[in-house]
Amino acid sequence: MRLKLALQKSGRLSEKSLGIISEAGISLTNGAGKLVSKAGNFPLEVMYLRDDDIPGCVSDGVADVGIAGENIVTEKNRPLETVEKLGFARCRLSLAVDRSVDYRGTQFFEGKRIATSYPLILGRFLRENDINAEIHEINGSVEIAPAIGFSDAVFDIVSTGSTLMGNGLKEAETVMRSQAVMVACRELSDNKRKILGDLLFRLRAVLKAKNNKYILLNAPNEKLDTIADILPGMKSPTVMPLAKQGWSSVHSVVSEEEFWEVIDRLRDAGAQGILVIPIEKMIV
Ligand code: ATP
Ligand code: MG
Repeated sequence: MRLKLALQKSGRLSEKSLGIISEAGISLTNGAGKLVSKAGNFPLEVMYLRDDDIPGCVSDGVADVGIAGENIVTEKNRPLETVEKLGFARCRLSLAVDRSVDYRGTQFFEGKRIATSYPLILGRFLRENDINAEIHEINGSVEIAPAIGFSDAVFDIVSTGSTLMGNGLKEAETVMRSQAVMVACRELSDNKRKILGDLLFRLRAVLKAKNNKYILLNAPNEKLDTIADILPGMKSPTVMPLAKQGWSSVHSVVSEEEFWEVIDRLRDAGAQGILVIPIEKMIV
């Protein structure tokens, strides 16, 4: 038996989705342009779909699990279980208005026409904020809608904001943040749950490793307590004596998120010769 995994065929999710599968040691026999491929060394079969179709295919049981953006998963509103946040394809769904608008709050949208490919998420936001606006659904090229007179505002994906800027728009409200997630069908057999558990174990090791760095530094012995407090590590830092009297080498793990702050504090505390090394897999 194989677990059926739905991935985006080609687009912003494809490369990273295939990347984590491959780093998890799973090799796919992948002829370009194929719609399905089987793993040689793991009970997995991958099907390649448009991202919009992934939530529906997984909730209907055509696929057992899938990788899609939270934006699509929320908009499609299917009964699904989110089993893991994957940390890539980060973006936000935002309302944007013409650059010249003196934007002072959500009341701006009262009575306006808003173009979007996310009518459900936008509708929810408007209701929660007591705003009556017309939602104009459009699939693709949403950001040109105001310029062609189709709408007064847009509700769309933003990552850096450069697409908005290029179309004379500016971000007015962030409505939701999104990243790639793995979703699963709610009705999986025990055998498939077991395969999913094995897959998640591997993927978590890959993701954890990506989000952490191995750090080595030298410190005078009298500073070790302060440094150990800054560096909690997986359990606690490893401390080894250096050949030089009164000095030690400290090894630990730091998360990518707090990395720069930790480095600054370590330098202030007297750490020297700091080395930072990527981790390949991390099992905790
Ligand atoms: P498909 O042909 O599969 O329907 P698409 O054109 O709808 O593809 P993509 O542009 O490949 O979709 O985006 C896929 C997902 O990647 C989006 O739903 C979103 O979650 C995320 N995403 C989109 N744009 C960005 C961006 N600029 N930066 C980061 N993530 C993004
Ligand atoms: Mg799509």
